[in-house]
Amino acid sequence: MVKIGIIGGSGLDNPGLLNDYKEVSVKTPYGSPSSKLVCGKINNVDVVILSRHGKDHTIMPTNVNSQANIFALKKLGCTHIIATTACGSLNKKIKPGTLVLPNQFIDRTTKRKQTFFEKGKVCHISMEEPFCRALRLLIGQTIKELKLDYQTDKTVVTIEGPRFSSRAESLMNQKFGGDIVNMSTVPEVVLAREAGLCYQAIAMVTDYDCFMEHKENVSWEQIFNTMKKNADNVKNILVKVIEKINYDHCICRDSLKSALV
Ligand SMILES: [Zn+2]
Repeated sequence: MVKIGIIGGSGLDNPGLLNDYKEVSVKTPYGSPSSKLVCGKINNVDVVILSRHGKDHTIMPTNVNSQANIFALKKLGCTHIIATTACGSLNKKIKPGTLVLPNQFIDRTTKRKQTFFEKGKVCHISMEEPFCRALRLLIGQTIKELKLDYQTDKTVVTIEGPRFSSRAESLMNQKFGGDIVNMSTVPEVVLAREAGLCYQAIAMVTDYDCFMEHKENVSWEQIFNTMKKNADNVKNILVKVIEKINYDHCICRDSLKSALV
């Protein structure tokens, strides 16, 4: 049995995907998740939706309690997580409006808790393949069927935020091999792996990061408008892909076994 957790990022905080749902408050040993969890069904598959930045987008990236968010989704029985995220492009070939499925990350965060194992056991989880390959392939197929622009197997750089990068940082992130930049994928993807969940992000490119000199400053409002346009596409992808997720066994489930000291 599969149950799909959807973490809605900026622009998809309140995806309105479900007609019939109930809201559940979940307590975790790590504190409260970003929002109540919205539980229902899409095409007869159980789904749980969580707004990463809170219902009214009031939680800034550093303060997102990813430990509580992932723990809560696991507690409600989720087996897979599809996370949406807004991002900037570090690659001239990845234009604003493109959807990107990352397969690697570079962590440039500085203030976040990245493990559930803070006392007692130590967990050295493998991050060789941080995202779920099977889930990424299914999402890629679905985007292709919908004839939307997308790129797959790219590298996301997660920065601490809430500020954007300086031009020097943006150029550095590009030279590191980053294709897109955001503020949310790490530590979410790491904690999902510790919890034995299959995790894949769908990143929506809102603009070029500042390695390209912008003619005008890109404002949060402009970014938000691009995100709104993209949000409908991502909703269609979610609805279509969810009924295809039918695998229960994946190497993502077993990573923890070899990671605990
Ligand atoms: Zn997996």
